[in-house]
Amino acid sequence: MKIKIEKRQELKPKLDESNLEFGKEFTDHMFLMNYTLGQGWHDARIVPYGPIEMSPAAMVLHYAQETFEGLKAYKRPDGKIQLFRPEENFKRLNRSNDRMCIPRFDEDFAIKALKTLVEIDQDWVPHAPGTSLYIRPFIFATSPFIGVRESRTYLFCIILSPVGSYYPGGLAPTKMYIEDVFARTVLGGTGEAKCGGNYAGGLAAQKKAASKGFEQILWLDGAERKYIEEVGTSNVFFKIDGKFYTPELSGTILPGITRKSIIELLKSWGETVIECKMTIDELVDYHRQGKVEEVFATGTAAVISPIGSLDYMGETLVFHDNQIGEYSQKVYDELFGIQTGQLPDPFGWTVLIDE
Ligand SMILES: *Cc1c(COP(=O)(O)O)cnc(C)c1O
Repeated sequence: MKIKIEKRQELKPKLDESNLEFGKEFTDHMFLMNYTLGQGWHDARIVPYGPIEMSPAAMVLHYAQETFEGLKAYKRPDGKIQLFRPEENFKRLNRSNDRMCIPRFDEDFAIKALKTLVEIDQDWVPHAPGTSLYIRPFIFATSPFIGVRESRTYLFCIILSPVGSYYPGGLAPTKMYIEDVFARTVLGGTGEAKCGGNYAGGLAAQKKAASKGFEQILWLDGAERKYIEEVGTSNVFFKIDGKFYTPELSGTILPGITRKSIIELLKSWGETVIECKMTIDELVDYHRQGKVEEVFATGTAAVISPIGSLDYMGETLVFHDNQIGEYSQKVYDELFGIQTGQLPDPFGWTVLIDE
């Protein structure tokens, strides 16, 4: 399929790079592609960024049939622009689509479309330290019908947003607590899919956490409230007695690409990484024995978010003196270095946009 390109006549003024907020500003162009039952994906195009017209009966607005992804483009010291494991994001988007009854798309074509879009808007990729271009691919149901079934038409969009450093003041440990009323998901639900509905369902818990003064929620499994699953919208790692632990992908956990990369990175350093079921009681026990050395959350937006403490049953468990752990910093430096092209990439994770 060819990508039709319609460029904006007058480009928008560029932004002050030292002052970028997350997800507020968007570039000059966006990618769109339609799906029609019987015809497949068609009309791939890059057009000026702007509002999308759709029916008030569009199914996504009623029943939330939608999936999305998040990845970043970085400007390297030599001025070239690179993506981090984009094939993993599009693979996961198709797996999310399977769960949400959205038709699959061609992953190689999506990468080509993304590279073309980023190339057209390349002047929007910021180069100040810690900045990047956040990429949001998403797909949603557009059929004008309010009966409940899967849609017959969809729109695939990619929009781009220049973002600042997640940690302007350096990596800062966060406070978390355990949510005991709301559940994020249960086995058989949509927890493994990256879909907007999961986030809508999590807002009440997020609001509650913020009102109690916590930045993060430690989610336990929804059925037994026993097993550790994720932290906020990130995966979680524990360094206990010299070994790294992260909850296994049991069907309710979002398979993070940062998670996967950190497992590979730690193993390449000769560290032991164990993916297993872990209960909250085990964590508390290990903490009592003084064996919990570091806790950190992982995801594309922040890469690593060190966790300083956990409130549970009226007790505050403090990790690593509420300071950044040695490995949290080391993993962050290495991964961020590879992503931004400041360090060599022995894993072949990065892809230049003009490759
Ligand atoms: C996106 C996401 C993550 C992190 O995935 P990355 O690929 O590392 O960005 C973790 N948990 C949830 C719920 C997510 O939506």
